[in-house]
Formats: sequence, structure tokens, C-alpha cells
Amino acid sequence: MAEFSTDAWRDGKQLVVRPGCTLPDRCIKCNEPAQRLTRRSFYWHHPGLYVVALLNLLIYAVIAIFVRKRTPVTVGLCRQHQTRRSIVLALATVGALAGTAVAFKGLIDMSYVVVGIGAFVTLASLVFGIVAGRVLVVTRIGENYTRFDGAGAEFLASLPTFYRTR
Ligand SMILES: [Zn+2]
Repeated sequence: MAEFSTDAWRDGKQLVVRPGCTLPDRCIKCNEPAQRLTRRSFYWHHPGLYVVALLNLLIYAVIAIFVRKRTPVTVGLCRQHQTRRSIVLALATVGALAGTAVAFKGLIDMSYVVVGIGAFVTLASLVFGIVAGRVLVVTRIGENYTRFDGAGAEFLASLPTFYRTR
């Protein structure tokens, strides 16, 4: 694989890529050799849409599915970061299942306090899994480029600097 990729750049602390880009064969968090490269889909929509979420979550979810943009990017993680992510996702899954079980037990016992605790644990586990388990955070998907937060400084330093083309 070529060491130099013309599809990925750094712009300050952000990673800028072309859609469908395959990133270098290194961990995007720590720049160590990647254990494996994974093709992932990243989604983004205009932040203004969150106003709808404040009004009605369901309507927001339906609109978001239709207007969101998608970028496929092939991303590498080292063994350590891969393992860390697996542990986070496993903990989140166990937490969500345990919370759901507690909520059902509360329903059976007609204890709404227990239902509330179970629902809270489930929701907290899901949020934890989504936030701690994400590999990169999309800040914008544009016509030609996608921008991400969350790439490691050493990985970014290995990429060429992005110059805006107008
Ligand atoms: Zn790593």
C-alpha cells in the first residue's frame, strides 16, 4: 500500500478526506501499525435540524434518515484501540440489557421507581456506547470533502496539510 495518500489531509486538529477514502495503514488514534482496516459509514446532517429534535424526537428521526449524508471511509485501529473499543461496546451492551431487565422486573412488581432506574441505566449505557465507542466524529460532510474530529495528533502529523481549493 502506498505510504502517501492523496485522499486525506490534516487541517489543524481536523482530518479531511474525500468520500470513499482509504486512510493509511495505521491507527487513527495513536499512529501505531493498524491491526486491521475497517470500512465504516459516517453520517452527518446540518446542525440546524437539531431544532426539530427539541420539538419532536420522532419527526426529527424520520427527517434525519432522509436528509443525512453518508461518507464511507476505511479506517485503521491498532490492537490496543481495537480492544478498547470492543470493551466499551461490550460494557454498553451488558448495561443496556441489564437496565432493560431491571425495568421489566419493575413493571412486574408495579414499582415505577425500579422502572425508572432500569430505563435510566439502559439510556446511559446506550449513550456511553455511542459516545465512547465512536471512532471518529464527523463535523461536516460537504460536496467534496468530509471533516472529522477525533483523530490522534501523531496520525494527523503524518498527513499532508489541507489547502482549500476554491
Ligand atoms: Zn492505537
